[in-house]
Amino acid sequence: MSDPEDFDPDTGFATRAIRVGHRRTAEGEHGEPIFTTSSFVFQSAAEAAARFSGDQAGNIYSRFTNPTVRAFEERLASLEGGERCVATASGMAAILSVCMGLLKSGDRILSSRSIFGSTTMLFNKYLARFGIETTYVAQSDLEAWEAAIDSRTRLLFCETPSNPLTEMVDLRRLAEIAHRHGCLLVVDNCFCTPALQRPLELGADIVLHSATKFLDGQGRCIGGAVIGDKTLVGEEVFGVLRTAGPAMSPFNAWVFLKGLETLDLRMRAHSQGAAQIADWLLTQSAVERVYYPGLVDHPQHALIGDQQRSGGGIVAFDVRGGRAAAWRVIDATRMISITANLGDVKSTITHPASTTHGRLTPEERAACGIGEGLLRLAVGLEEVADIQRDLTRGLDGL
Ligand SMILES: *Cc1c(COP(=O)(O)O)cnc(C)c1O
Repeated sequence: MSDPEDFDPDTGFATRAIRVGHRRTAEGEHGEPIFTTSSFVFQSAAEAAARFSGDQAGNIYSRFTNPTVRAFEERLASLEGGERCVATASGMAAILSVCMGLLKSGDRILSSRSIFGSTTMLFNKYLARFGIETTYVAQSDLEAWEAAIDSRTRLLFCETPSNPLTEMVDLRRLAEIAHRHGCLLVVDNCFCTPALQRPLELGADIVLHSATKFLDGQGRCIGGAVIGDKTLVGEEVFGVLRTAGPAMSPFNAWVFLKGLETLDLRMRAHSQGAAQIADWLLTQSAVERVYYPGLVDHPQHALIGDQQRSGGGIVAFDVRGGRAAAWRVIDATRMISITANLGDVKSTITHPASTTHGRLTPEERAACGIGEGLLRLAVGLEEVADIQRDLTRGLDGL
């Protein structure tokens, strides 16, 4: 059993994360094989022609048809509740492919201000060169979103919760606004993964991922994915992948398949640990503010439960004393990794103002609320007490 359509519609999330997408070859292998081949052989000239014309389904060339990559795509599409998934070389390649596939010169993107730093750079510096303008609004302000839509706006873009401030937006209502104005809603679901939130079920048109983060889960590979319907993703975004080539490697797809198998368990554990750390940070005198969707005083806490199953694994916090204090907390750690990655079983810490958001101007950083004393902690699966002890080394005495 492996084809998505072979599964009873009631098949649970964790089961699909383990089983969907693997078709055994004649060898009868239990684990998913890695197809490290650049091209595929045809039985005849006529078969080659039929494959290229699309009259016959089947593999052609690994830039756009590889069985290991396809297994990952089918599994993730099933988990997000989408018809099609296109895997890409990175999360940024997923965002670029969506923009190239769905936008043309003269179109506008309306985006949340609280998005990944490289996404802002892509919109402001590179897409702008091709006549695609981006306007920004405050993530959770639905009236501001609607007021900023004009006749050229084609696509609404957000990440919820956002990186690093964990700001959320009501996806059901944002999808209604987008559709009322003939726009598409694109959601970067990197922080939650489908284990905690499924934007397509809430009305979004496209979901995308940096698979590099929680989908892998152990910090091994770079990859991305776009999920949606047969036309938008199956034709438009797939067309960009096939033609321009930002494809996922079969080896990486295999690693991500292994990652998906434990996704449900890991996301529960990350959320549980992060909730404990967030509560504990609130009791630390050096900490001025904690940003975590699971906290009852988070401004969009009401979305927990219905939109998003739990708070997720990322906690951000402001320490008293600006950059010097934030760097001191980082430099005093002995276990937590100082790295920009997140969504790993190993806890990681970063200072957004000087790393992930360092290429933004100070004005752009201020506009999206990234202060000099802000730290982002991606809570791993080590013992919570050990993570706390490591943070205490720098927090004590601030
Ligand atoms: C990391 C990240 C990306 C970019 O993904 P890459 O795989 O690094 O290219 C996009 N969005 C969010 C929210 C991310 O955290």
